Amino acid sequence: MLAAISLGLGLLSLGALLNWSRQRVDALGRPRGFPVIGFVVPAVLMVLTAVPVVRHHRLEGRLSEVASELAGVRADIICQTLGESWVDSRPEPGYVKITSDGRPERRATITLDTCGDLQEWLESDRSAPTTDQVMAVHILTHESMHMRGLLPEDEAECAAVQRDLNTAVLLGATREQARDLALIYWTDLYPRMPDAYRTSSCQSGEDLDENLPSSPWNLIP
Ligand SMILES: [Zn+2]
Repeated sequence: MLAAISLGLGLLSLGALLNWSRQRVDALGRPRGFPVIGFVVPAVLMVLTAVPVVRHHRLEGRLSEVASELAGVRADIICQTLGESWVDSRPEPGYVKITSDGRPERRATITLDTCGDLQEWLESDRSAPTTDQVMAVHILTHESMHMRGLLPEDEAECAAVQRDLNTAVLLGATREQARDLALIYWTDLYPRMPDAYRTSSCQSGEDLDENLPSSPWNLIP
C-alpha cells in the first residue's frame, strides 16, 4: 500500500517535471517558471513514504537469509505490514502455512510487532535484549524449523531452542551475546510456553536432544 502511494507520488512529480520541460514557454511566449510545488512536494513525500518501504524490504531480506540458513532450504520471511496486521486475527506471533499435501510452505509470516522487535534488536548493540526481543529472535528460529520440515510444535520448538544461538550469531551478535540470548529463552521463556510447545523429551540425553554445541544444556557452565 505504502509502496503504491510512494510510486504514485513519484509519477506525479515526474509528470510535473516532464510537463514543464515540454512546454517551457506559455501561449504568449513567456518562460514558464519551474513547478516548484508540483514537483518538489510529491518528490519529498515520495522519499518520506519510500523510506519505511525500503527498510521493510531490507529487514525481510536479512531475516529470509537467516531463515534459509537455518531451514536448509530457500525460505522467505514475510513481515506483516500495518494494514495486514489489522485484518489478521491469528493469535500466533508467526506461522507457516501447510500445503494441501501436508508439507510446510517455505515462507513464514511474522507479525508486525515481532518484526519490530527484531528490527529494534538489530539496531541495538545486542548487549541487553528485552524479553520481547529474545522472543522475536526465537520466533524466527521456530518458524525456520517448521520450514525445515518439523511440523509438531513441540519438535519445532525443541529444535529451535537448540539453534537460537546460531540465529543470533547469523544476525550479527557475538557468540557471547548469542549464548546469553539462547539461555534467557531456555531458562525464562521456554518453561512458560503452552503445553503443546513443550515436551519432557526436550532435554539433555532425551529423544529430541541433538547434542549440538548450541543446545542450551550444553551452554550452561
Ligand atoms: Zn509453530
